[in-house]
Amino acid sequence: MLYNTAKQQRELAYKQFGTSIFYSMQQKELPVLKREFPEYKEVHSQVLQDCLQRLDDAYQRFFRKEAGYPRYKSKDRYASFTYPQPGAVKKGYVYLPKIGFVRMKIHREFDGCHVTQLNVKRYADQWVVNITVKGEEIEMTSSIERMVGIDVGLNTFAALSDETTIENPRYLRKAEKRLKRYQRRLSRKQKGSRNRERAKRKVAKAYRKVTRQRKDFLHKQSFRMVRDYDLIAVEQLKIRNMIQSRRLAKSIADAGWRKFITYLSYKAGRQGKRLVEVPANGTSQTCLCGTEVIKTLAIRIHTCSVCGLMQNRDIVSAKIILQRALGMIA
Ligand SMILES: [Zn+2]
Repeated sequence: MLYNTAKQQRELAYKQFGTSIFYSMQQKELPVLKREFPEYKEVHSQVLQDCLQRLDDAYQRFFRKEAGYPRYKSKDRYASFTYPQPGAVKKGYVYLPKIGFVRMKIHREFDGCHVTQLNVKRYADQWVVNITVKGEEIEMTSSIERMVGIDVGLNTFAALSDETTIENPRYLRKAEKRLKRYQRRLSRKQKGSRNRERAKRKVAKAYRKVTRQRKDFLHKQSFRMVRDYDLIAVEQLKIRNMIQSRRLAKSIADAGWRKFITYLSYKAGRQGKRLVEVPANGTSQTCLCGTEVIKTLAIRIHTCSVCGLMQNRDIVSAKIILQRALGMIA
């Protein structure tokens, strides 16, 4: 798998020579890699470049202290499989059994009636479909649209359907704590006193800083989502619950989420990407197989007795959100 190979290359260079390898260097080596490893030959080069780009992003986030050290990606169970009886192939869409409807970018036009075989491969979080067309004997590669479902969290900023999470940055947590401390101090000062005025100014300053940092973080994250994905699925925000919520942490998270969706929507609109908002009811109480799995907030692991899925509950929710979005499109 290219992602892991490229990561290994970076680590070796650093350990043995103390040098860093960057995206541009790894990208230049792709033709050599394709010659020496036939398994990469069949892959559309855009996909390989995207894969290297994602690794580079993971490192950049680590260097900026926004995320932990990049991890190796585990091989997917369904890394490659063939459908002898092809599903519906329409312009812009393909139906893959077990996966559902997915949107594809087709590099070449073809007649959907004569498709005899579909071969599906997965590279990192992107799917590649090879279509064999009978009669004309054409084999084509199409890359599926990159899609992501996002579930907002309280402790972590968000969980993604690609099984990663986005943490709240430490500098932001610190700044928020400082603001709270100043607010407590202000409440203890006597009204009309000079100390109170000073404390007020401190609170205002800390507040401005938190607001600016949070905005900056949300801009960065929404930019990354729109750059990396063609379809982004999120949950509609429940306004009623937001007002009812008394917990400060919850209301801060909700406010951030609302702003995040706003940023996403205008960035996606400008780039021709798609943002799909799905109804929020039950996304945390359902399994991908459709079974209802009731869990209280304290239960962090989703365990389904029907299909056996066992995973971080927020990641499962993110997948459900994506699944619902695709259902809405199809
Ligand atoms: Zn299940």
